[in-house]
Amino acid sequence: MAPDPTLVPSPALLQLSGVSAFYRRVQSLQDIDLDVPAGASLAVLGANGAGKTTLLRAISGVMVRRQGTIRLDGADIAALPPHAIVRRGLAQVPESKHLFKPLSVAENIDIGALPLHQARRGGEVAACRDLVDELFPILAARRSQIAGTLSGGEQQMLAIARALMSRPRVLLLDEPTVGLAPKVNEMLFAAFLRLRRIGLALIIAEQAVRLACDVADEAIVLHLGRVALRGPAREVRDHPDLKRLYLGE
Ligand code: ATP
Repeated sequence: MAPDPTLVPSPALLQLSGVSAFYRRVQSLQDIDLDVPAGASLAVLGANGAGKTTLLRAISGVMVRRQGTIRLDGADIAALPPHAIVRRGLAQVPESKHLFKPLSVAENIDIGALPLHQARRGGEVAACRDLVDELFPILAARRSQIAGTLSGGEQQMLAIARALMSRPRVLLLDEPTVGLAPKVNEMLFAAFLRLRRIGLALIIAEQAVRLACDVADEAIVLHLGRVALRGPAREVRDHPDLKRLYLGE
């Protein structure tokens, strides 16, 4: 008899097991385990230098050597180069955004669709563009504007839009709200909630604990490259050890 599907635990969309990361010989991340289901949002918290960016890089394969198992939809991606990981459905929005500043908004968005074209999935580009227009109508109104002349908030939206053009199922965001006005943050967080509703998993590295915990359901706090605290986001936000981990008290 076939197993009752309600009794079979659904595997996490993204699963890390014993992940460590190194810059040359220096170890910056130690033994990280994570399970992130589709439609879930994980906040990665921690003070400066705790390892938040390194964790995102270890997952996306960018600029760091890593060990351990990283599974996307059950397949181990830890040995794949970054471009192959993007094609499999995982995209990163780096803190520095890496926009092509002399190019227009539309050109930056088109560049984001390259992985779909390379994977012969060009038929999916229109759906991505519709989603991006819906999430960030301000960009749709500025398609011909040069990216470098956008405001900081608009540049962040463009960086997210470009990442979404590869049709990711997992989106990694490195300090998306840093330096932005509260109103812009509200727009970004509304976009994150919408992305979760359509089934994306989000991993958001943030120093702004309250902001991140408002949009996340789970949170981890990194300290010296290890997970020092984990749990439901609201519990982590109010945890008595949080201040000590941030301030080194
Ligand atoms: P922040 O909030 O300041 O961005 P973070 O939590 O993202 O901090 P990481 O940038 O991941 O921290 O840094 C973790 C550790 O790895 C730090 O000790 C840092 O000095 C080191 N590190 C980061 N990038 C490099 C690099 N390119 N080469 C060598 N060491 C690095």
